[in-house]
Amino acid sequence: MGQPEQVIIVGGGIIGLGTALELRRRGLRVRVYDPEPASGASRAAAGMLAPVAEVVWDQPGLYPLMVESGRIYPEFVEAIAGESGATDPAEVGYLPMETLVCAGDAADRRTLAELMELQHELDMEVSLLSAREARRREPELGPGVVGAVHIPGDHQVNPRRLTAAMLRALGEDVHRARVRGLHWEEGRVAGVFLKGEEAPVRADHVLLAAGLGCAGIEGLPSELSLPVRPVFGEVLRLRAPEGRVPLARHVIRGIVRGRPVYVVPRSDEEVVLGATTREDEREGVVVEGVYQLLRDASRLVPAVLDCELTEAIARARPGSPDDVPMIGRVAEGLSVSTGYFRHGILLAALGARLGANAVCGTPMPENTARAVDPWRFSEHGAYADHTQQNTQL
Ligand SMILES: Cc1cc2nc3c(=O)[nH]c(=O)nc-3n(C[C@H](O)[C@H](O)[C@H](O)COP(=O)(O)OP(=O)(O)OC[C@H]3O[C@@H](n4cnc5c(N)ncnc54)[C@H](O)[C@@H]3O)c2cc1C
Repeated sequence: MGQPEQVIIVGGGIIGLGTALELRRRGLRVRVYDPEPASGASRAAAGMLAPVAEVVWDQPGLYPLMVESGRIYPEFVEAIAGESGATDPAEVGYLPMETLVCAGDAADRRTLAELMELQHELDMEVSLLSAREARRREPELGPGVVGAVHIPGDHQVNPRRLTAAMLRALGEDVHRARVRGLHWEEGRVAGVFLKGEEAPVRADHVLLAAGLGCAGIEGLPSELSLPVRPVFGEVLRLRAPEGRVPLARHVIRGIVRGRPVYVVPRSDEEVVLGATTREDEREGVVVEGVYQLLRDASRLVPAVLDCELTEAIARARPGSPDDVPMIGRVAEGLSVSTGYFRHGILLAALGARLGANAVCGTPMPENTARAVDPWRFSEHGAYADHTQQNTQL
């Protein structure tokens, strides 16, 4: 069978919605199924677009994807803005505000300096600022900040505004229903079963983009392992006092006594503090996390203590074993796009294209296909066996 005409997308987080729009641009008919669209990880995320600040030593497969996705982000949001009826990418929450990564003490400053070595090795644009210079550029920094790294290319988007715009653009193509399992016909996936329904909903192709929900879908190929684990985190939303909007001129990230923290001031009064990391299965907001965020964030930006607390939320990041997403075809009529872990808002621009490539059978560049190969955690599914499927459909 050639390129599919009708596609079902399971999951309406930023990945499912972004891929649905990309497929529609390519002329396919899409239906997204989600009982509560944009209510998962995409709802909690601060929306830092940080390929430079988030680079780490042992993830060579990840950073090229992050850099490429950051590069195409302006086109991604511009297309969504147009399709949703907005006149300007700023209306969908995109803000090319620069980033400062701050050190809370001398040991934290050494950690930042080590990270800068890697950033320089990778030709990333970063510069070290003294505490004095950092405070000159960002008067909201607290007296505890002992130095900072300036990253002009790391920006932010408001994921709630962006997913709301995606939902407006998709309109009636989004259906509020949970998918229970896959419908197979003559050795290929030919649709899905919705929860509480006996008859299948048919389509030429199904894309699983349900984040942590993917592994629970009935009827996945038995040899395929999709090990997506929940990595919880708390995020706080604040309202800046009148006359102090935005609360700061930069996205402020930092390390305080070894703990990462960030303060993301929006162009409106919203300020987002994040994020903790825990793998303890507790779905609610844990008080220790709230305490840690307020303590560490107020060390970097004392003015957060003048704000009103409007929301505390916890959600789980859909983590893969190597932190790289799993994107590609896994059977006739079936593709997956999940495991975006800490970077799904940033990676959504590239993920939408790669997921659409998988559905349409458009080859991906070899290195990319290898990095995101959805079979790489399956015992009997070596990359080589499936390259054919992923790149030559
Ligand atoms: C605290 C926190 C902070 C973060 N901060 C950032 C950040 O600053 N920058 C960044 O790039 N990333 C960040 N992330 C990561 C990012 O949020 C995720 O990687 C991204 O949202 C994943 O998107 P998704 O669409 O795959 O999953 P989700 O947003 O979780 O969406 C999955 C959707 O699938 C639906 N679903 C599940 N099961 C089914 C089913 N059976 N049938 C139908 N639908 C189903 C759910 O209802 C949900 O809407 C953060 C995450 C967290 C938790």
